Amino acid sequence: MEARELEKYRKALEAKQAELVELLRRRDGIAIEKAADALDEVRLAADRELLIHTLDREYLRLKEIRAALARIEDGSYGICLSCEEPIPQKRLDAIPWAAYCVRCQEAIDAQRAAEPGATVLEEFLEETI
Ligand SMILES: [Zn+2]
Repeated sequence: MEARELEKYRKALEAKQAELVELLRRRDGIAIEKAADALDEVRLAADRELLIHTLDREYLRLKEIRAALARIEDGSYGICLSCEEPIPQKRLDAIPWAAYCVRCQEAIDAQRAAEPGATVLEEFLEETI
């Protein structure tokens, strides 16, 4: 891939990364909000449950973005991690953090759906933002 193209994706990834970090910082504040009474506690628990799922997706996206930026550094960006074929630029334009070609991604998604794994949130919280 040309340096100019790589730079375009790097910029897109860094912008998205900054956006997510900001979003997650604000959300973290909500997640630890204290309830005024028991009823609020129940409602907040449900809200938190929903929030955890959203956060989990966002942390996962952030992780994917960081991995993509690392691949730009080591020169493997734009190559499918599974079959090692180039990922079409049209796909990278839509999803700059894509680590797999469509075919491999679909296979992975199907596998994940079959066996839901652990949340990445806990794992991620051990790292610093
Ligand atoms: Zn592939």
